[in-house]
Amino acid sequence: MNLILLGAPGAGKGTQAEAICKEFKIPAISTGNILREAIKNGDELGLKAKSYMDLGKLVPDEIVIDILKERIVKDDCKDGFVLDGFPRTIPQAEALDKIGVRIDKVIEIDVPDDVILSRLSGRRVCEDCGTPYHITNKKPQVEGICDVCKGKLVTRKDDNVDTIKDRLKVFHDQTAPLKDYYANQNKLSVVSEYSSLEKSREATLAAVRGNI
Ligand code: ADP
Ligand code: ZN
Repeated sequence: MNLILLGAPGAGKGTQAEAICKEFKIPAISTGNILREAIKNGDELGLKAKSYMDLGKLVPDEIVIDILKERIVKDDCKDGFVLDGFPRTIPQAEALDKIGVRIDKVIEIDVPDDVILSRLSGRRVCEDCGTPYHITNKKPQVEGICDVCKGKLVTRKDDNVDTIKDRLKVFHDQTAPLKDYYANQNKLSVVSEYSSLEKSREATLAAVRGNI
């Protein structure tokens, strides 16, 4: 089963991707995480991507398409995968079609911009394992420390108000057109439940099950 999670930055794609990954035993693939990892390791890929990411811009299509092509041929993807943060442009979606990747279902997590803004501006992430927290909605047990691995909690460079607004604009201009792209193929399900991550997860899993 090959799935795509579509949604604005901060819509909860990462959290829902993990839930799908657990329940359906398919890997969650986040191009954002792969890029951040490359930056952390000082790889050439990371050097290329960093300036775009820090400004909230999209990394060029050729780069992310290559990353994805390399990732989905790995062994763990043979029974399917869930893509978190890819495709983000029409050319990226067309690239999937071109390489013959059949997509079964696209789940859009629809969250209003003002909710996104407050979620992302208060987000803190573990610099070691990436687990997300929030200064008011999801506090760690010990301030500044990850519950999972005791790593340090930091603010992502692109989680400041101006950059969040730029990312939202990029989403509406370049990524939102993918809704029609997949609706026209009868593959789109919309999850509008965002009041809590738990409710959003139930709705997301229900949408995935609808396809089996
Ligand atoms: P978010 O969904 O919160 O923006 P991600 O981790 O998915 O976070 O992405 C962070 C950044 O990584 C994006 O702003 C962009 O610069 C880059 N990126 C990730 N995936 C893609 C993609 N498919 N195409 C282009 N850029 C990407
Ligand atoms: Zn951690």
